[in-house]
Amino acid sequence: MSQVVTRIAPSPTGYMHIGTARTALFNWLYARGRGGKFLMRIEDTDRERSTPEATDAILRGMDWLGLDFDGEAVSQFSRVDRHREVALEMLANGTAYKCFATQEEIAAFRDAARAEKRSTLYQSPWRDAPASEHPNAPYVVRLKAPRDGETVIQDEVQGDVRWKNSELDDMICLRSDGTPTYMLAVVVDDHDMGVTHVIRGDDHLANAARQSHVYHAMDWPLPIYAHIPLIHGPDGKKLSKRHGATGVEEYQSMGYLAAGMRNYLARLGWSHGDDEFFTDAQAKEWFDTDGIGKSPSRLDFKKLDNICGQHFAAADDAALLQEMTAYRAAIGEAPYSDATNQRFLEAMYCLKDRAKKFGDIIDKAVFITADTPIVPDEKSAKNLNDVSRGILKELTPQLQNATWERETLEAVVAGVAEAHEIGLGKIAAPLRAALAGRTATPSVFDMMLVLGRDETIARLEQVSR
Ligand code: GLU
Repeated sequence: MSQVVTRIAPSPTGYMHIGTARTALFNWLYARGRGGKFLMRIEDTDRERSTPEATDAILRGMDWLGLDFDGEAVSQFSRVDRHREVALEMLANGTAYKCFATQEEIAAFRDAARAEKRSTLYQSPWRDAPASEHPNAPYVVRLKAPRDGETVIQDEVQGDVRWKNSELDDMICLRSDGTPTYMLAVVVDDHDMGVTHVIRGDDHLANAARQSHVYHAMDWPLPIYAHIPLIHGPDGKKLSKRHGATGVEEYQSMGYLAAGMRNYLARLGWSHGDDEFFTDAQAKEWFDTDGIGKSPSRLDFKKLDNICGQHFAAADDAALLQEMTAYRAAIGEAPYSDATNQRFLEAMYCLKDRAKKFGDIIDKAVFITADTPIVPDEKSAKNLNDVSRGILKELTPQLQNATWERETLEAVVAGVAEAHEIGLGKIAAPLRAALAGRTATPSVFDMMLVLGRDETIARLEQVSR
């Protein structure tokens, strides 16, 4: 078989819908797993909506998700001449015709059809009119669709889907002002871009039937179609703003990890046995259209959290720091200093533990980011009283002389706890207050190791003075 070529063809609407992201992901996985190409086409023929900003939002979404495409993004609008050329070719080969019907004539046809309880699908009297009868008047170019029999789309997900040709009209390919229609443009672009597989939302399934007529009219091979069910909200209803986040960038702003998002979106409507957590390499190897389900999938934030959490745990620390920096920029936070970043890097192994979102990491990192002297919050301050301060005071000189290693630090703290006949928790609580001023922190030993001896002792002295 020739090389696989897939594409994502978003219409710029101002943001990137989560469904578009998933469609892009499926196409990316399909192509990348087969040594194929994955292309990007911006369907920007609606000139009012198609602003550069709207296109940028899509490109940013793709970039965040790490879905790289081959070559440059193709602008559909820039190809209108080619679309027109194909319409003219169809006219020349007799698979399309000039229709001179006016709006009034079409409306009259429909009224009569309704009155006679016939199909209101327009049947142009110009379909078979010889050129000698053509008036010198505006016309549209209509495709000569088959009238008898059926159109069958062999869909990789939906199976064979059939339409009676009597229910499909002669669609317009060129409007009377000479502009091509979207239905024509999609086919011409997919053909010219060499697209072999069209994987897209099943809201385009009916379009496939009519688009197939253009392929036949031009004697072009049909692509393989896979129409995927849409994403629904947690309540099973069609996803809408009411459900919360529908745009990809909102997920970035919520602090999800792109790798986790890819994994989660891949599982949204596709499965490979019982595998829930997987890497990109596995997804590329496993992804196929036969694993795509037939019913709509539901957004499930719990599952998203869970999968992202596993990706946090598995991620490389330096890569996490880099993505965290991008996340902070995306939510408009100033970057951390180099020194703070260095500490984040050293602490990442414990910060990422149980994190689901970047916010969890940052919350846990107050011992790194807080200004000194540390001001304990209300909850944490409760753990500092005369008794616990006394214990910290006793601990300080011992730490001064200890080798700065986990085992030694643990032994020193355990020794002091034992001497006072208290549990380790009783000493950890004031230590947390001193080192972080918070109760939810990494372990006290992790904090001590990251802060180092001088900073640890300085913080202990500040509270036990
Ligand atoms: N532009 C269409 C959309 O954003 C997709 C068209 C297609 O994939 O064929 O829904």
